[in-house]
Amino acid sequence: RANARTSLRVHVGVTFQDIAGYDNVKVELQEVVEFVRNPEIFSQVGAKVPRGVLLEGPPGTGKTLFARAVAGEAGVGFFSISGSEFVEMFVGVGASRVRDLFTQAKKNAPCIIFIDEIDAVGRQRGAGIAGGNDEREQTLNQLLTEMDGFDENKGIIVLAATNRSDVLDRALLRAGRFDRRIVIDLPDMNTRTAILKVHARGKALDDAVVLENIARRTPGFSGAALQNLMNEAAIFAARRDHPQITEEDLDDALDRILLGPAKKQFSFSDYY
Ligand code: ATP
Repeated sequence: RANARTSLRVHVGVTFQDIAGYDNVKVELQEVVEFVRNPEIFSQVGAKVPRGVLLEGPPGTGKTLFARAVAGEAGVGFFSISGSEFVEMFVGVGASRVRDLFTQAKKNAPCIIFIDEIDAVGRQRGAGIAGGNDEREQTLNQLLTEMDGFDENKGIIVLAATNRSDVLDRALLRAGRFDRRIVIDLPDMNTRTAILKVHARGKALDDAVVLENIARRTPGFSGAALQNLMNEAAIFAARRDHPQITEEDLDDALDRILLGPAKKQFSFSDYY
């Protein structure tokens, strides 16, 4: 069955504490946690809570992590699917997958539905060279129908992530659908330091290492890129039999990421 791939998990493990920095995003998402946890407080006074919240920002900035943390903070189930999965599907499967996803979620409310890469399925309709892709449009239409068709005060919130909000079909952003948007940008210097500290947890780090210095040298790095940097440094340390990750390991890991793997010395004998 198509819905076998829909993953239901309770991510009690992930909370806002696992995410460094981004206090403003946490404040906004804390509100979503309240909507999911206590929908009756809002319906009592006749308030309609949002059905959909769009998380937008560059790759690797923790959008998925934030979505999981919302479920974790609220202590509810988490259903996730990626927009790119729909696109790879056989004709007619995408729309029924969307239907299944919402059916499952309604049965298991309160819960969070997470749609990663929503732009893959949510691009503006009829914009393709060949006048659009029928299969994708059917899937998008089903998503719009489902967004309109569930009771907003029953503890279901749909979170969606994209780094291309500019290409989204405007129908998705209309009131009652993804009408809240939260921007998750690349981390600034202080946030980069905090992220490096999170990913240094559980790793043996030489006392002489100053993570602020690494943060200063990594403008433009996402949280995912910083996590990768710490891991590459740990691999260097292990290969060199260092008992702890040294500044040299971090320097070399950074060089490797910025310049690519070390090249073999150029030699004419390679060519003649
Ligand atoms: P993509 O757009 O590529 O799917 P994303 O924005 O969904 O990326 P995640 O997959 O959530 O990003 O982030 C990747 C990993 O980067 C996380 O699992 C986490 O380990 C790390 N990370 C990102 N941001 C942070 C942060 N602020 N604090 C700690 N770790 C972070």
